[in-house]
Amino acid sequence: ADLDPALGEETYRLDRAHVFHSWSAQAGLDPLVIAGGSGSTLWDYDGRRYLDLSSQLVNTNIGHQHPVVVAAIKEQADTLTTINPATANLARGRAAEAVLRHVRGPFSKVFFTNGGADAIENAIRMARLHTGRAKVISRYRSYHGNTGVAINATGDWRRLHNEYATGHVHVFGPYLYRSEFWAMSPEQECERALHHLERVVQSEGPSSVAAVLLEAIPGTVGVLVPPDGYLAGVRELCDRYGIVMIVDEVMTGFGRTGHWMAHDRDGVVPDLVTFAKGSNSGYVPAGGVVISDDIAATFDERVFPGGLTYSGHPLAMASIVATIGAMEDEGVVENAASIGADVLGPGLAELADRHEVVGEVRGLGVFWAVELVADRGTREPVDASVMARLRTELLERGVLPFVAENRLHVVPPCVITPDEARRGVAAIDEALAVVGAGA
Ligand code: PLP
Repeated sequence: ADLDPALGEETYRLDRAHVFHSWSAQAGLDPLVIAGGSGSTLWDYDGRRYLDLSSQLVNTNIGHQHPVVVAAIKEQADTLTTINPATANLARGRAAEAVLRHVRGPFSKVFFTNGGADAIENAIRMARLHTGRAKVISRYRSYHGNTGVAINATGDWRRLHNEYATGHVHVFGPYLYRSEFWAMSPEQECERALHHLERVVQSEGPSSVAAVLLEAIPGTVGVLVPPDGYLAGVRELCDRYGIVMIVDEVMTGFGRTGHWMAHDRDGVVPDLVTFAKGSNSGYVPAGGVVISDDIAATFDERVFPGGLTYSGHPLAMASIVATIGAMEDEGVVENAASIGADVLGPGLAELADRHEVVGEVRGLGVFWAVELVADRGTREPVDASVMARLRTELLERGVLPFVAENRLHVVPPCVITPDEARRGVAAIDEALAVVGAGA
């Protein structure tokens, strides 16, 4: 389509005048204006193009404007745009079936929500009603969403201003690079993190703990890939104490890690699995909870006290069916795995070797974090000005980055090509050289 720079100016002016932004002091904002996109590329109204290494908020797993998904949304819009969730709807049933194809275990029911936070909200509610217990253990290093209970389950700084809900207990999880457990190896980190979790369960009183809630791989807080055996150890612990295991796959699910679900690689079967982002790449807001048959049975004769006007919204459902179908047909998850193994993994490891400012690189699939440090010995994080500079340098090189604290998250769409990924790594290389020289 023709791009009109005047529309770019209008977009910026209206945003600054009237749009209140998330997680920000409003005064100093300078939002990027985006006009359109395709695959892993976005552009503004001046025709300036960006390689999207952010997938926005790590959600456009299938890339921007996938034609099959766009067509499915249009077709559903022509058929029926909205309907009461109490009705039976074909797109909704097919979406549930498509989601269930990729969550291994005794699962045959899905509760649909509008996004990730309300998936967490409802998973916790189900766990509490199922067990008759109140407490939920989650991790300090976590993000679970911005509703009343989800933000209290969250462990990172965003929880602190919002602590009104009760019954939330936090623990430290494994993170060997900044170990809370004085561990020197992944095995020690795993064993000690599990011991810590078990001691917290015992100290809180096992009969009061409804759920352990954890991201399969903590995402926003740093792509903290757990050591082998950690998730399996949590599963065992939950079994021992009759606790519901909720695995949050909102960011990690649907291809991000080169697996359909990140917990597949740990060989565990959770009791509840929350999903959102990658299930339809966020083309229409959607999320949900995949419910084990055991927990679903709790609500066979007993009313589930929860619901949403837009639960299973037809446009969202049609986009889930089309997204999952296209990902299956086009080998999108396999592509994410090979981009990680062949391009991003080796490419980013090489940057870690060459740039003193890189403390650690970790990840898999299209889910990577590059952690920047002022001093490799002390592992002291670089300050915010270094990250701001890194961001600017990347934008100037036509790369849209995801920056969180002292980390660059390299999280492109799962459909990124090897050439695009190599171009991204080369831009990061140049940007690191600039910030490294100034650090
Ligand atoms: N859970 C995880 C692991 C997330 O990363 C996020 C969002 O980043 C959420 C939950 C919340 O999802 P939403 O923003 O769709 O409510």
